[in-house]
Amino acid sequence: MLVYHLPGTFDTRDDHLDLLWQAGATGLEERAGVIRAYFDEETELPEAVRDGEWRQEADQDWLAEFKAGLRPVQAGRVTIVPPWLRAEVPGTQVPLIIEPGMAFGTGHHATTRLAVEALGELDLDGRTVLDVGTGSGVLAIAAALLGARYALGVDIDPITIPIAFENAELNGVPAGRAAFMEGTLGDDLPGDVVEDGVYDVLVANLYAELHDLLAGAYVSHLRPGGPLILTGILLSKLPLVRAALDREGFTKVTVREDGEWALVTARA
Ligand code: SAM
Repeated sequence: MLVYHLPGTFDTRDDHLDLLWQAGATGLEERAGVIRAYFDEETELPEAVRDGEWRQEADQDWLAEFKAGLRPVQAGRVTIVPPWLRAEVPGTQVPLIIEPGMAFGTGHHATTRLAVEALGELDLDGRTVLDVGTGSGVLAIAAALLGARYALGVDIDPITIPIAFENAELNGVPAGRAAFMEGTLGDDLPGDVVEDGVYDVLVANLYAELHDLLAGAYVSHLRPGGPLILTGILLSKLPLVRAALDREGFTKVTVREDGEWALVTARA
């Protein structure tokens, strides 16, 4: 990898950045007072930017570095790990294996952790669970591992569906216990084993504005008295979600916070 090191920052050398692009830079980055300009080959540079230095650097495998930095994530009685850290899960914890990839939900985001923790506090034995915005499938798989008889994950993004199925398989969850479908609430979900679309538990890690829009649909997909778990909510947007739950007649609203994020539970 060929990098031209130019002393300065994007601010102090603002006038010179265009010169680097015009000379053929394929990327610019600022690190510790140095502008790093990536080139495919050494090239004659304009006078104004000749105070730098060409360096050959070892190629970096960003994905390998990212993977090496992952640690197990404890979420209540569940520990979420990538496959290669399975052995690090203590025997007292429920292991949940997620292959880090294209879909959101490795457990490293506070909202995923909060939701898994909240699922772990319910008695899910024999229950049905609907996971709206399933991503990697993490919440539906957690529900199945915690005893749910059937968990359905839905997501509007089709790339998540095969990923979620693969993660379910990694966890040894049989196809009949967790299923994943492209779609959202209100869609007819052909092939869903819960025919009337009414679940014992509904969990959704989305965002406040969407919870507001979907709150009415949450009521129709949840059995009376069933637990609702919502996250993906910035603390500043909490009033919007609270108002939506009040409007739709949800009761027993509780809030849990982690940094700037909130998780809300309620009963239908
Ligand atoms: N459930 C995972 C977790 O807790 O880590 C992933 C949550 S991720 C923040 C939100 C997911 O919701 C994304 O995969 C996105 O494609 C999906 N999504 C966004 N809008 C949606 C909608 N209206 N209906 C269903 N899924 C939606």
